Amino acid sequence: MKASKMLISTLKEAPNEAIIPSHILLLRAGMMKKLVAGVYNYLPLGLRVLNKIERIIREEMDKSGALEILSSAMQPKELWEESGRWKNYGPELIRFKDRHDRDFCLGPTHEEIFTDLVRTTVKSYKNLPLNIYQIQTKYRDEIRPRFGLMRAREFIMKDAYSFDVDEKGLEISYQNMYETYNRIFKRVGLKTRVVLADTGAIGGSASHQFMAISDVGESDIVYCEKCHYAADGEKAESVPTYHRYEEEFKEVEEVTTPNQKTIEEISSFLNVTPKDVVKTLIYVDMDNDELVAALIRGDRFINEIKLVNALGISEAFLRLATEEEINNISVNGFVGPVGLKVKLFVDEEVTMMKNFVVGANKKDAHLINVNYGKDFEGQVVDLRMVQENDECIRCHEPLKIERGIEVGQIFKLGTKYSNSMNCTYLSEEGKTEPMVMGCYGIGVTRTLSAVVEQYHDEHGIIWPKNIAPYHVVVIPIDYKNSEQQILADKIYEQLNNENYEVVLDDRNAKAGFKFKDWDLIGIPYALIVGRKASEGIVELKTRNGNLKEELSLEEALNKIKELLANVR
Ligand code: ATP
Ligand code: MG
Repeated sequence: MKASKMLISTLKEAPNEAIIPSHILLLRAGMMKKLVAGVYNYLPLGLRVLNKIERIIREEMDKSGALEILSSAMQPKELWEESGRWKNYGPELIRFKDRHDRDFCLGPTHEEIFTDLVRTTVKSYKNLPLNIYQIQTKYRDEIRPRFGLMRAREFIMKDAYSFDVDEKGLEISYQNMYETYNRIFKRVGLKTRVVLADTGAIGGSASHQFMAISDVGESDIVYCEKCHYAADGEKAESVPTYHRYEEEFKEVEEVTTPNQKTIEEISSFLNVTPKDVVKTLIYVDMDNDELVAALIRGDRFINEIKLVNALGISEAFLRLATEEEINNISVNGFVGPVGLKVKLFVDEEVTMMKNFVVGANKKDAHLINVNYGKDFEGQVVDLRMVQENDECIRCHEPLKIERGIEVGQIFKLGTKYSNSMNCTYLSEEGKTEPMVMGCYGIGVTRTLSAVVEQYHDEHGIIWPKNIAPYHVVVIPIDYKNSEQQILADKIYEQLNNENYEVVLDDRNAKAGFKFKDWDLIGIPYALIVGRKASEGIVELKTRNGNLKEELSLEEALNKIKELLANVR
């Protein structure tokens, strides 16, 4: 491809809204362009990368025995009602009506569609196990679309669904996908960590996430260096720790605490530590239309996913109560569990505390010397976000936390969808049994941006060669110089004829300008044709800075071929 014919649209600066490197660089390198918030057009260079990621995914999925299909983004409401998710998915689901007033949604995921497809196609155990997948566009009306392709409203996903006769079969299918995912991310070039995950709105019994390690990731990865326990922040557990265990129980007392509302204020006012105070947070369970209270030690943060799970509702149905709602049952800033007339969810650490401080449900008042079991009771659950140095749930070593980008997730669904949607098969014994399902997603466009997060420098993107839009760029310093032109053309034609993916920068522009462009775009290898063209010498440079040498034309071509020999 000749650069003069390409739609190269590099930018000096990215728009202000782009704050993370991948978002900035994908825009600046002209890989994509924003249409509206969370929706992008992929330009030629970006699409080439996307296609290569998809090709790797396809090859590995096909090798795993999965079958590719393609289904529509347009999904009828009836199927979502069968699974119960028309209501449970909440406002992230983009819904619309056709001209006959029939309800539809734009698929955020495809469990319903694939379950329906299989229940109407597969009848017998003889056709199982089955794993079908697609690479297709998904829609989620994310509350905060941001970070470019990371959290978009339209994005490409590879989704796969497995159907087995029993749990044992599911275990094999799940393991197969686990290994396939590891192979995919390795070929793409991503450094990932696999973690235990919450099953969320998709439902099911077990799940893992594939996290690309990155400081800009939106997920916490909690891990133990000793026993290799690793879990997503929403799922991670730690050993509850107790505080002041030796003390005797004391009697509750009310104390005046004028305007002391936050944990910091109250603990310094009463001369105790945040660990001696219990926070009482009021939430609205919108599914059951009631207020609930969550109690946690003052120095801790609540994990809302754990609360959602304790309530048995979907994430979309939980929100913090407003000040007005709180004042209907207590006094905002002074809420406490003693005498509170709502369902209490109590973090297990609170039950291990002694003589602690809580709000008195009265203005400017707190209670001291409160004890769980003696002064109030509730449902005891784990509600904590794990913090660094908490004890590992498996081996008691201090836990570490790093940030990650969730690029894939796999779920053991079991019979959740096959039961609600009646997806059954006839067993060898002639009995009707529900199929046992798994589902497996990869965020294809998110993977693309995660790669940029891991592979860039201050000048631009550094594509790993397996997914680079082109492998080699030939850059004549001055294309109008006839010696340079002849040599550059020759290299270009030779590589082109041998089916290498090569660009010739034939643009009539200053060398510095061209170098800047290619550093930004991130092609792995550059062959620079300059003053020594008359001697048949070129410079070979790798974008990652590992190599920069002057070589004869033949040496340079051989070297390039060697470097590209293992691209796949
Ligand atoms: P998240 O927790 O980041 O919202 P999710 O758990 O809801 O993601 P899944 O339902 O597991 O996502 O979807 C499978 C994959 O699709 C995810 O692992 C992620 O890589 C990708 N994905 C999900 N939501 C988005 C989005 N808004 N933009 C881009 N990719 C996404
Ligand atoms: Mg997920």
